[in-house]
Amino acid sequence: MNINLCVQCDECSSKTNCRVGMSNRDVQPLKFSCKGCGSLISLDFDVRGADTLDNRAIEAILAGKGPKDVRLNQGATHKISGATEVPIERGFDPGIDFVDLHLGRVDELAQV
Ligand SMILES: [Zn+2]
Repeated sequence: MNINLCVQCDECSSKTNCRVGMSNRDVQPLKFSCKGCGSLISLDFDVRGADTLDNRAIEAILAGKGPKDVRLNQGATHKISGATEVPIERGFDPGIDFVDLHLGRVDELAQV
Protein backbone atom coordinates (compact mmCIF):
# COMPACT_ATOMS: atom_id res chain seq x y z
CA MET A 1 0.00 0.00 0.00
CA ASN A 2 1.22 3.49 -0.84
CA ILE A 3 0.00 6.67 0.76
CA ASN A 4 0.33 9.88 -1.23
CA LEU A 5 0.28 13.23 0.49
CA CYS A 6 1.61 16.75 0.18
CA VAL A 7 3.15 18.65 3.09
CA GLN A 8 4.11 22.29 3.52
CA CYS A 9 7.18 23.06 5.64
CA ASP A 10 6.39 24.99 8.84
CA GLU A 11 9.68 26.92 8.55
CA CYS A 12 9.89 28.05 4.91
CA SER A 13 6.48 27.07 3.41
CA SER A 14 8.07 24.89 0.70
CA LYS A 15 5.80 22.07 -0.40
CA THR A 16 6.89 18.46 -0.82
CA ASN A 17 4.90 15.66 -2.40
CA CYS A 18 5.41 12.37 -0.57
CA ARG A 19 4.78 8.84 -1.73
CA VAL A 20 5.04 6.57 1.29
CA GLY A 21 5.21 2.83 0.81
CA MET A 22 3.92 0.95 3.81
CA SER A 23 5.81 -2.05 5.10
CA ASN A 24 4.36 -4.71 7.37
CA ARG A 25 5.23 -2.74 10.51
CA ASP A 26 2.40 -1.49 12.71
CA VAL A 27 4.08 1.85 13.36
CA GLN A 28 6.27 3.43 10.70
CA PRO A 29 8.27 6.54 11.55
CA LEU A 30 9.81 8.31 8.53
CA LYS A 31 11.76 11.56 8.21
CA PHE A 32 13.20 13.69 5.46
CA SER A 33 14.79 17.13 5.13
CA CYS A 34 12.90 19.99 3.52
CA LYS A 35 14.59 20.87 0.23
CA GLY A 36 13.90 24.54 0.85
CA CYS A 37 15.53 25.00 4.27
CA GLY A 38 16.82 21.63 5.48
CA SER A 39 14.37 21.41 8.39
CA LEU A 40 13.45 17.92 9.50
CA ILE A 41 9.92 16.79 8.59
CA SER A 42 8.56 13.70 10.33
CA LEU A 43 5.75 11.44 9.18
CA ASP A 44 4.64 8.82 11.70
CA PHE A 45 2.20 6.26 10.31
CA ASP A 46 0.09 3.88 12.34
CA VAL A 47 -1.38 1.16 10.15
CA ARG A 48 -2.84 -1.04 12.87
CA GLY A 49 -6.27 -2.09 11.64
CA ALA A 50 -5.73 -0.51 8.21
CA ASP A 51 -6.99 -2.14 5.05
CA THR A 52 -3.67 -2.97 3.45
CA LEU A 53 -5.25 -4.20 0.22
CA ASP A 54 -7.14 -0.94 -0.35
CA ASN A 55 -10.37 -2.93 -0.50
CA ARG A 56 -12.46 -0.02 0.74
CA ALA A 57 -11.07 2.26 -1.98
CA ILE A 58 -11.68 -0.38 -4.66
CA GLU A 59 -15.27 -0.83 -3.43
CA ALA A 60 -15.81 2.94 -3.62
CA ILE A 61 -14.44 3.10 -7.17
CA LEU A 62 -16.67 0.19 -8.23
CA ALA A 63 -19.64 2.00 -6.67
CA GLY A 64 -18.99 4.87 -9.09
CA LYS A 65 -17.42 7.39 -6.74
CA GLY A 66 -14.98 9.84 -8.31
CA PRO A 67 -11.29 10.17 -7.44
CA LYS A 68 -11.99 13.10 -5.09
CA ASP A 69 -14.38 10.92 -3.09
CA VAL A 70 -12.01 7.99 -2.82
CA ARG A 71 -9.19 8.16 -0.36
CA LEU A 72 -6.88 5.24 -0.91
CA ASN A 73 -5.34 3.43 2.01
CA GLN A 74 -8.22 4.06 4.36
CA GLY A 75 -7.59 3.05 7.91
CA ALA A 76 -3.98 4.20 8.16
CA THR A 77 -3.46 7.22 10.37
CA HIS A 78 -0.50 9.56 10.48
CA LYS A 79 0.95 12.47 12.39
CA ILE A 80 3.18 15.09 10.83
CA SER A 81 5.75 17.26 12.60
CA GLY A 82 7.68 20.12 11.07
CA ALA A 83 5.11 20.57 8.31
CA THR A 84 1.39 20.72 7.64
CA GLU A 85 -0.50 18.50 5.23
CA VAL A 86 -2.08 20.28 2.28
CA PRO A 87 -4.71 18.80 -0.05
CA ILE A 88 -3.77 17.18 -3.35
CA GLU A 89 -6.32 18.23 -5.94
CA ARG A 90 -5.53 16.19 -9.05
CA GLY A 91 -2.49 14.10 -8.36
CA PHE A 92 1.01 15.36 -7.74
CA ASP A 93 2.05 18.67 -9.30
CA PRO A 94 5.36 17.91 -11.09
CA GLY A 95 6.61 21.40 -10.19
CA ILE A 96 6.69 20.50 -6.49
CA ASP A 97 9.59 18.65 -4.85
CA PHE A 98 9.02 14.91 -4.41
CA VAL A 99 10.22 12.29 -1.94
CA ASP A 100 9.68 8.54 -2.11
CA LEU A 101 9.75 7.05 1.39
CA HIS A 102 9.75 3.34 2.15
CA LEU A 103 10.67 1.11 5.05
CA GLY A 104 11.60 -2.49 4.34
CA ARG A 105 9.46 -5.33 5.58
CA VAL A 106 10.53 -6.68 8.95
CA ASP A 107 11.21 -10.15 7.51
CA GLU A 108 13.28 -8.67 4.64
CA LEU A 109 15.49 -6.77 7.06
CA ALA A 110 16.08 -9.91 9.11
CA GLN A 111 17.77 -11.48 6.05
CA VAL A 112 20.23 -8.62 5.53
ZN1 LIG B 1 11.54 24.26 4.78
